[in-house]
Amino acid sequence: MHPISNKLIQWYKINKRDLPWRNTTDPYKIWLSEIILQQTQVAQGLSYYIKFVEHFPTVVDSANAPEDLVMRLWQGLGYYSRARNLHAAAKYIVNEHNGLFPKTYEEIRKLKGVGDYTAAAVASFAFQLPHAVVDGNVYRVLSRLFNSNTPINSSQGKKEFQLIANELLHTKKADLHNSSIMEFGALFCKPQNPKCEECPLQENCLAFQNQTVTILPVKTKTVKIKNRFFNYVVFNHKESVYITKRVEKDIWQNLYEFYLIESSEEIDTETILENKELQKMVSRFKLKKATKVSKHILSHQHIHAVFYELDVEGKITDKRFKKVKRTELTSYGFPQLINKYLESAG
Ligand code: SF4
Repeated sequence: MHPISNKLIQWYKINKRDLPWRNTTDPYKIWLSEIILQQTQVAQGLSYYIKFVEHFPTVVDSANAPEDLVMRLWQGLGYYSRARNLHAAAKYIVNEHNGLFPKTYEEIRKLKGVGDYTAAAVASFAFQLPHAVVDGNVYRVLSRLFNSNTPINSSQGKKEFQLIANELLHTKKADLHNSSIMEFGALFCKPQNPKCEECPLQENCLAFQNQTVTILPVKTKTVKIKNRFFNYVVFNHKESVYITKRVEKDIWQNLYEFYLIESSEEIDTETILENKELQKMVSRFKLKKATKVSKHILSHQHIHAVFYELDVEGKITDKRFKKVKRTELTSYGFPQLINKYLESAG
């Protein structure tokens, strides 16, 4: 066993958090937790994990669930492609593996939404297979221990850190080793204020010796943020509103929303009300309210949203729209931005 692995495992045994997916070797539950945690902090992901396991105790239950229910349970976690991939992968396991979770790294890696990290995590935690995980925490710990300034988001960095991780791996206890290094990064060797003074790896840590801890890990510049302007028109008819499903390959695919007029910059109420398509859909309407612009921040996009509430007369016949009682809106999955609006609208 590598001495660094030994120290990490000793540290982990004393300091680990008790998390439900650590008390199981069920590959389905481990996979579920890994998908939820892909872009989510543990504190937020925990309640979603519990909710999903309650609703879908097995991969077969997940596969058989209606997509709307999966999306609704996912609501609020963001990065909705994870939910769609999860559902697709569950169906694939039922159809191609008779409902039995695949048992090798290569087969797990083939599941939709599963990359190198997730495949290594599931293979090691569920089946004790010798695959080293490299997630954000591991990148940070390794870049500091080995004082490497190779950008962690470059293809060179990906290769280099995977090689180091493989060398450190305790192959007979891959599950324990992987949990240890990730937990060490999450709780101890943190991005800000790592606990170097009391660190059991201090004498192994080249960044500590070279006083480079605070500048590691290195990342190359990320992509430019795109601004989008979403003008939502809420068609009210008595106690009901009209909603539609986002079917395009874009953010929030398969979630519901109101009639959307997207623009490349902020536009005024008059321009909205004079929109040709809108006028075609509803001949008689009255503007009840327009909200202030609210900004919703996604990883590479900023959404600037305004909601225009219109009382409409007559029916909307456009097939894309569904008339739903306001009290029943909770049965549909909406992006957080719309949920916030619905909460404030009461
Ligand atoms: Fe991380 Fe500091 Fe320990 Fe190095 S000495 S491993 S930077 S906590």
